[in-house]
Amino acid sequence: MAVTVRPRADQPAAERVLYQRGAVMSATGPEDQGARQPSTSSPQSYGSSAHISLRGVSKRFGGVVALRGVDVAIAKHEKVAILGPSGCGKSTLLHIVAGLLDADAGSVDVAGAVTAKDRLARCAMMPQRDLLMPWRTALDNACIALENRGVSRHEARERTRPLFGRFGLGKFEHLRPAQLSGGMRQRVSFVRTLMAEKDILLLDEPFGALDSITRAEMQEWLLRAMQDVPRTVVLVTHDVEEALLLADRVIVLSAHPGRVVSVLDARMDESASRREIVTSPGFVKLREQALEALE
Ligand code: ADP
Ligand code: MG
Repeated sequence: MAVTVRPRADQPAAERVLYQRGAVMSATGPEDQGARQPSTSSPQSYGSSAHISLRGVSKRFGGVVALRGVDVAIAKHEKVAILGPSGCGKSTLLHIVAGLLDADAGSVDVAGAVTAKDRLARCAMMPQRDLLMPWRTALDNACIALENRGVSRHEARERTRPLFGRFGLGKFEHLRPAQLSGGMRQRVSFVRTLMAEKDILLLDEPFGALDSITRAEMQEWLLRAMQDVPRTVVLVTHDVEEALLLADRVIVLSAHPGRVVSVLDARMDESASRREIVTSPGFVKLREQALEALE
């Protein structure tokens, strides 16, 4: 039986749209040494082989120009962070990629899909708030995407359970969202997004609501989780460290309107710990470059 995904009454309008259009349920790249090599690269360097390509994308909301002339090209299974100050158009950019919004000008190609409707079918989005259903257990929340595609509850559980084990959620599968910590809820939300079995994963400030200690733990967790699941990932964040830590490449957007001001190569050593990475001289230098680009 297919499950109808219902928005909660207390959800903001944008989140309700995500629910109603199925993007939340529908949905992953490489790294080298702790000493990263700071460099800049062209956002258009992949040409026609790009998995995600935005050319000259602009978007206006009434009198507000959210994005102007944005060019972004992302390779298959690359992990890219969109970094910028609050209100610079990061979510707008992500929503355009996801097919939840159309650009006013420019072209968008997401794995060959150019219309909003077709883009929606290629991507899975993990929103800032977990949007878990309070009446469902953790496992059953993560099963929703499969159930929505007509998979039985029993089979959906069988297929989702191995990821629960792999991502440290095995002991929590029977708990309801209210019984889980903020970090655990975000893990469930991530597994739910993966279970949409899409090749493109869009993460909109996934740890924005967490305290700084949990946030650091979750960043390390996501780093490992993404190594395990090859997908093209676009992560939106206003946190410089998070962007550099989690992405292969960081695209820095300016505020008002959002324009690409810098692209930083941020590959790192897959085996290094978060602490080793963030304290390495290469990382510190990259952080300075990112902060300078944001000024
Ligand atoms: P970010 O995610 O970087 O914080 P957003 O993409 O949410 O930024 O917003 C960029 C700008 O566009 C902001 O000035 C915001 O107020 C405006 N904006 C975003 N969505 C809408 C909307 N649906 N209607 C009107 N203005 C919007
Ligand atoms: Mg946003």
